[in-house]
Amino acid sequence: MALTSQVFEFQAQARQLLDLMVHSIYSNKDSFLRELISNASDAVDKLRLEGLRDKDLDADISDLHIRLTPDSEARTLTVSDNGIGMTRDEVIELIGTVAKSGTDELRQKLAEKDPADAGDLIGQFGIGFYSVFMVADRVELVTRKAGETVGTRWESTGDGTYTLDEVADAPQGTAITLSLKPVDEDDAVNDYADQNVLRRLVKKYSDFISWPIRMTVVKSVPGEPGEDGETPEPTVEEADETLNSQKALWAKSSSEVSKEEYAEFYRHISHAWDEPLETITLHAEGTFEYQALLFIPTQAPFDLFMRERSTGIHLYVKRVFIMDDAAELMPEYLRFVQGVVDAADLSLNVSREILQQDRQIRAIRRRLVKKVISSVQELQDRRPEDYQTFWANFGRVFKEGLINDHDNAKAILKASVFASTASETEPTTLVDYISRMKADQDVIYYMTGESRTQIERSPHLEAFRAKGIEVLLLSDPVDEVWVSSGLDFEDKQLVSIAKGVVDLDGDDADVDEEAKTKQQEQFAPLLTWMGETLTDEVTEVRLSSRLTESAACLVGDAFSMTPQLEKLYRASGQPVPHSKRILELNPDNALVTALVGKFDAESDDHADLESTAKLVYASAVLAEGGDLEDPAEVAKLLADALTKNLG
Ligand code: ADP
Ligand code: MG
Repeated sequence: MALTSQVFEFQAQARQLLDLMVHSIYSNKDSFLRELISNASDAVDKLRLEGLRDKDLDADISDLHIRLTPDSEARTLTVSDNGIGMTRDEVIELIGTVAKSGTDELRQKLAEKDPADAGDLIGQFGIGFYSVFMVADRVELVTRKAGETVGTRWESTGDGTYTLDEVADAPQGTAITLSLKPVDEDDAVNDYADQNVLRRLVKKYSDFISWPIRMTVVKSVPGEPGEDGETPEPTVEEADETLNSQKALWAKSSSEVSKEEYAEFYRHISHAWDEPLETITLHAEGTFEYQALLFIPTQAPFDLFMRERSTGIHLYVKRVFIMDDAAELMPEYLRFVQGVVDAADLSLNVSREILQQDRQIRAIRRRLVKKVISSVQELQDRRPEDYQTFWANFGRVFKEGLINDHDNAKAILKASVFASTASETEPTTLVDYISRMKADQDVIYYMTGESRTQIERSPHLEAFRAKGIEVLLLSDPVDEVWVSSGLDFEDKQLVSIAKGVVDLDGDDADVDEEAKTKQQEQFAPLLTWMGETLTDEVTEVRLSSRLTESAACLVGDAFSMTPQLEKLYRASGQPVPHSKRILELNPDNALVTALVGKFDAESDDHADLESTAKLVYASAVLAEGGDLEDPAEVAKLLADALTKNLG
């Protein structure tokens, strides 16, 4: 019996998503059933766990199941479960709002995009419960939380508001009744009140659900022949039919499971709507017995870079669901991996605290990590297009492993690709880089920066470009961090071209050592004076062998932080001192030769050259895309110099 009926407005985000659903721009309307069954299955999982945890819970957990009740005359379909249910507040919180992170991004993208592409975005974002409005013009949800006495009725036509009532006699769990839209004339398979259609859809989308999905069917039973030999009328009986096989896909060998079945299972556990890019199965026997079924998604979820994101690994013990974000089983840098681990020897009431200590869990995790990395390597070796998709979506996350996972860093490095000066468009593996190395080159050169364009403009690259030496162009924030951890690859050190001394001439026989020494002598007084003049900005001024065009550039010593890394630390709230670098001058540059020509080594007074020295430094900062400490002063020096030049 309804007591007080109250009207509520959907939260703004929810309203917009609903609007999309009502006008159903997503082509695969069947998905609504998968979503409802998936939610029902989660609710039943939760109640079973709660029942274990709380022995006094006043709830019946003896026959947990999901039920479909179609009514073709009334054109309704009810999907019900006797799971955990929701309180009134939870209904408002969970059904009245879209708490899902990334909703704002989705809306923004929808606003920018052609409506024709919106379906793709919906698929990418994944619309859970609201997908019912693709097929129904009115939806009623009646729910009672396990252990509570009063239930809640929620009702909406998806038009921006919903009503809530109290229900005194609601059964425990949740029942969702859809008033179905008229059947598409030319598409009878879309009649969701038809038992055959439902049977087929459950098989297709939800066969693996571990709880029975039941439907009451009417059977005609032939009557017993009477004693008088008369043929009796058949009797009509109602019977429950279980629509799903309930088989755990991870327990089967991969040859027994179709690609489509894996994909549906992936969508169920990840709450996603895309296809898995790669499916990984693992059956371990021996000391620790376990099975794992893991997926690498095709699309990055919207919240991949958000802190609060949970991991995607579900833990089962002997087919029984235990928890859905077993963070202990997958490191953070593989947080895009979704899947199930079923361990045979854990206790059914294993807690998070126990998981953190468990030797078996650690062993499983080690094995899973290696398996995921080798799967990525396999994509790189055998399926270049899929690898490209993987890298575009997850490369930045994957590289976090270079910082955090020392045991696997080499394998991660090998399975990664990097932009390089060898190609505008194709990133390179380190193996390929090494195969292109010059005969006398024994290290891998890289430069970090904020973007490829910015790095490419930097003067540090000049000599490398002139000599045709390949340089990796690393522009993800995470690159700054891992390159400074001193990794090498196949015994080749990774060396920054913006740090330390670069001697590209090596033992080149053409180099005239005598001329070089003479040049050093000629420049020495200028270099000393400039070092003193710029003492607040740089540690030293010296001649460069990495420049061919520019007058000057700044380099760090081998262990100093790059300006980008300093920026990163500051952005994350960690104060770091500004580290001074070395100013290198190009002795072949016209400005530098003019400067040395003007410099009178005999005199003590070089005030006339001070502003030029400062401008040379400023131009080196600007060339690498850095920030001047006092831009106003530089602008003034520049204006003075120009005035002098014109006057
Ligand atoms: P998701 O499943 O990705 O969280 P949904 O839109 O499908 O998103 O569902 C939103 C939330 O509503 C669920 O997380 C769950 O808390 C709650 N919910 C939905 N259906 C049920 C149900 N049958 N029983 C209990 N809670 C439910
Ligand atoms: Mg859901």
